[in-house]
Order: sequence, then structure tokens, then C-alpha cells
Amino acid sequence: MELSLFDLHCDTACEMFEKKQALSRNNLAISLESTEKFEHYVQVMAFWTDHRLDDEAGWKRMKQLRENLLRDPAVLSGDAICVTACPTRETKTALLFGIEDARIFAGKIDRVDEAFRLGIRVLTPLWAGETCIGGSHDTDVGLTDFGKRAIGRAISLGMIPDISHASIRSAEEIFELAAKQGRPVIASHSNASAVCPVSRNLSDAQIGKILSAGGVIGLNLYTAFLRKGGHAHLSDLLPHIEHFLALGAEHALCLGGDWDGAELPPELRTVADLPDLAELLLARNYPETLIRALFYENAYAFAKRYLIT
Ligand SMILES: [Zn+2]
Repeated sequence: MELSLFDLHCDTACEMFEKKQALSRNNLAISLESTEKFEHYVQVMAFWTDHRLDDEAGWKRMKQLRENLLRDPAVLSGDAICVTACPTRETKTALLFGIEDARIFAGKIDRVDEAFRLGIRVLTPLWAGETCIGGSHDTDVGLTDFGKRAIGRAISLGMIPDISHASIRSAEEIFELAAKQGRPVIASHSNASAVCPVSRNLSDAQIGKILSAGGVIGLNLYTAFLRKGGHAHLSDLLPHIEHFLALGAEHALCLGGDWDGAELPPELRTVADLPDLAELLLARNYPETLIRALFYENAYAFAKRYLIT
């Protein structure tokens, strides 16, 4: 079956920069060679800045990751286009930008506006521990006053807030900030806690809130978030998919593979192996429409509705 892919999270931009790899061909999980088989391919490229860098160096690094991508031969030649709004249906390969871990705003609100001007459209404000933004999934702390202002500003500019990596309390406050402006919240790369109880996955209550606010959820392929203790296989995605569908996520469930940022099931060497998941689902009698929705259509419909500037 002919497939398109719209993936909500990868760390490929960081790996490209650190390992001096180009987008067209490389030894990473994502390259244009690996995505060639998809009819259309849209990727949210997260700019994650090494946590060993201080906030100022991290802010500079985020810009370097972006510039490195913009200078990539595949982007310069137009083989991949960088977009800030939903790409047209005709686009073969499009890249969207995100920031993962907004500690690099370093308490400076004008950096939110600058990030928007730099094309950032997905904001994953937290990552680990406590920062100027607030508490991450490994804490029980909520957002700081600055975190609330920064995320509120980001939402008002048109960025999409992402609760992946947030603490329960921070996520709660992100939902409130978005609801005030009638905007959605996403979880770009998180699975179901009910299936794999780790702090990076989503409770049923959080899933319900994302769905009722029109958000989307990207399934994370990291083995430790698929199955408690790790050592997961591709088939370990199925209980998560079942659980999300049982909660009504048919039109919200997407992929957010965490490519080049996590240990993936052994069946997935690169994104080119992802159609095996479609085969697995077909073999379990999932309808083709649902598989296409999971791979592309749900994320595309979301982007069409909410990524407009
Ligand atoms: Zn992450």
C-alpha cells in the first residue's frame, strides 16, 4: 500500500549537526533516501539543545541547528522545503521546526517572538528537571510565572504547545493556557501510561483533554516507552494503538517516532522500515483508512487547521 508520512518528532537535526551528516544520504534514522518511498513526507524537526550547554550556549546552539538545516544541500536544492504553515498536498517533502526544552528562553520573553520569527511552530517547553519554564515529567512541579507567560505568548503567536516531557502539573497548566485562547495542545512523542507506566507517557485524563481540545498525539517508538523495561518490538505498539483508539483517538493518533533520539525496536533501522507497521496493522484487520490516518492524514488535518501563519 502506497503511504505518506507526517511525523511529529525527531532529533535528526541535532544528529546532523553533531555528526556532520547531510539530509539526503546519511547513516541516521532519517534521510531523504529513507523517506523516498513515502508519497508525501512531512517531518517536525525538533531543535533540542544538549543539556550540558548552559542556557545562553543552548540558545545559540538552537540557531546553529536551524541554520545547519537551512544550509543543507537538500534544502538548498528544494528537495526538502522548510515550512511554517501546513504544506500543500503536492509537496513531496516538507520540514517544520520545533524547540524541545525551552529553558533556552532563559527568562527572556522576547526570545519567544524571536523563535516564532525563526520559524518555530511546535513548542515542547520542557524536557527534564526544573527550568525557568517549570517542572518536567520527572518532577511534580508546575510552570513558573515566566513559563506561563512564555507559553501563553507562544500560543498567541500561533505556536503549538506540546505536553510531551511535562510534569502532570505543568501539563495541566499548559491545557489551561491553551484553553484560554481556544487553541489545541499536542503530545508530539508520548504513549499511553495505561499500557506502559512511565512518567513520559500520558494518563487517560491527559489523552481525553488533548482529544477534546482538538489536539493530536504522536506515538513514540522509544522501546522504554513502549514496554516497561524496554526490549520492545514493533508489535508492542499495538496495545498502545488499541488503547488510544478505545479512548476515541481515531482522528488524533499520529506518529512521533523520536527518530535519532532514542533506541527503537530492532525492526526499525530507519524510517524506511516503518511501512512494516502498516503491514502489521493490515494483517490484524485494521482498515486502510485508519492506517493512512495514523501515518499522515490526522497530522495533516491538524496542521491544515492550526498551522496557518
Ligand atoms: Zn523528547
